Amino acid sequence: MSNFNFDVITLFPKAFELIKNLGVITRALQKNLIELNLHDLREFGLGSYRQVDDKPYGGGAGMVLKPEPIFNAHESISKFPNSKTLLMTPQGKVLKQKDLVRWSTLDQLIIICGQYEGFDERVRSLADEEISLGDYVLSGGEIPAISIINGLTRLLPGTLGDPDSLLDESHNSFLLEYPQYTRPEIYKGKKVPEVLLSGNHKEIKSWREEQMLKRTFDRRDDLILRKSFKTFFDTGMIEIDFNLYPDW
Ligand code: SAH
Repeated sequence: MSNFNFDVITLFPKAFELIKNLGVITRALQKNLIELNLHDLREFGLGSYRQVDDKPYGGGAGMVLKPEPIFNAHESISKFPNSKTLLMTPQGKVLKQKDLVRWSTLDQLIIICGQYEGFDERVRSLADEEISLGDYVLSGGEIPAISIINGLTRLLPGTLGDPDSLLDESHNSFLLEYPQYTRPEIYKGKKVPEVLLSGNHKEIKSWREEQMLKRTFDRRDDLILRKSFKTFFDTGMIEIDFNLYPDW
């Protein structure tokens, strides 16, 4: 049995070929750390035409995915004890790193991908969580699903070469990562900051901490605000009921 099972309900299983060629994920599949099961929605379509979509009641442009094929596909999936169902929708909660961390301790994610103008409203009752990749509209839920599979897989033990690389990276504790350099020392007239060549680990550490703050302030001051409140909370200066702020 694999550590983590992804079950995806999609009209375009071929879109997931991409995942099989994505470095970390390729290795995770080979090492059997994850299992990816694709459930072709078309196979659950109705009638001899395997119909999966229909015109919206009340009129309007485009087609909407019918409820029965999605419910039947969902029912056909064997559920693990620690399983959640995610529905991909631009109306959902915007995906955050902390969601990937939270889900990484489950043993199964069932991901439902919409297409066309979306799905019948009753499909929502299948979902434990509705997730959006961001405030824009894509043509289907496949790319959001691939993003989730990719982001979650690299958090699983045994997938990354060096698990320490997860510690400092962006969006871990509301900060963006410090600038990184590799050889050569001078490239197109731009030199690697002296401190990184110094071998002084204490100075390197404090330079990196300062850069993380500076970079986050320059690019994402909204995160700095969150970071400050999290620190006030962690040090007991204020009490915050984080249940009231699911986005934090
Ligand atoms: N008419 C719908 C959008 C349909 S887009 C609406 O206004 O809400 C078709 C499908 O693509 C959606 O059902 C969803 O599964 C997927 N999708 C599009 N944009 C997305 C996003 N930002 N995040 C997650 N899924 C998205």
